[in-house]
Amino acid sequence: MQAARLTEIGKDIVVQDIDRPEPGEDDLIIEQNLTGICYRDILTKEGHLPRVTIPITPGHEISGKIVATGSSVTGFRVGDRVTSLIYRPCGTCEFCTSGRENFCASKKIYGEDRNGGYARFVSIGSGSAVKVPDGVKEEDSAIAACVTGMLYRALKVIGNLAPGEKVLITGAGGGIGTHAVQIAKVLGAEVIAETSSPGKEEFLHKLGADHVIRMSDSLDKDVKKITGDGVHLVLENVGIHTFSRSLRSLRIGGRMVVVGNVIPEPVPFPLGLIILKGNSVTGSMSSTKEDVKAALELSRTGRIRAISDGRMPLDQVNEAFARIKSRGNVGRVFLTLP
Ligand SMILES: [Zn+2]
Ligand SMILES: [Zn+2]
Repeated sequence: MQAARLTEIGKDIVVQDIDRPEPGEDDLIIEQNLTGICYRDILTKEGHLPRVTIPITPGHEISGKIVATGSSVTGFRVGDRVTSLIYRPCGTCEFCTSGRENFCASKKIYGEDRNGGYARFVSIGSGSAVKVPDGVKEEDSAIAACVTGMLYRALKVIGNLAPGEKVLITGAGGGIGTHAVQIAKVLGAEVIAETSSPGKEEFLHKLGADHVIRMSDSLDKDVKKITGDGVHLVLENVGIHTFSRSLRSLRIGGRMVVVGNVIPEPVPFPLGLIILKGNSVTGSMSSTKEDVKAALELSRTGRIRAISDGRMPLDQVNEAFARIKSRGNVGRVFLTLP
């Protein structure tokens, strides 16, 4: 089969003919028609992530039909539609047995530690798989772990976003933010969307944003103009450009959940804002199977949808990377698999 392969860090990805994977004892072989490209894949290629095993098939936005199962697999059958966590959890540690498998210290990440999604046939551990209900579109199942499940966790499980609360979403015009706006609306919040890119206001309103703010040095003042006393929750998806203004946008007792860090640099952290205002700051990482199930249910019932920036064939993966880097995409770019 054809697979896109990272053979050397920093070099273009090459499409090669490799053997179709055979299932290990506890594995499922998934056949997929498309897979999502994550910004993390680009960082992997560029060498920003340590410990990447090469050569490797990148990608972790994996979903499709099971075509083969390993000898010890239970609960899944050939023909089942599944989507995959972005990692393979160990299944036995303290975190894996308490529903927080995203913290598993021995997890293996697809596309970094073992072959990932940039091929039609992918081997995943059965512990990564979540069944996809009928009526969920392929693109929605592809991003259920990395995008919508991750955001469900950040906003609902970690952020405790409640109906009627006000939430600020930074980087709202991008591939993560456009989905965050939808999920925050489903949770009943009043959504203030911050975006640095021009021309996305109307689209963000269409997705449900109640207010749209262009990124500026007065982000916190703009938020307070709208809210009076600030927001209950910030979903911080940008990092250094917005962090301290986001923190200042919180009302007393507000919460900030950090999911993104576009530029990996330390951010200024004014301690007075958490001491005197009782604000809290937490990170949220990836998703668990329960989060993915919740996200799939939102997709099945049509309350959220994948925002797609289009599909490109596998052999144009380098062009797709360049497009994502240069353009500030509003949604996911998907690769179609030969
Ligand atoms: Zn991803
Ligand atoms: Zn574990």
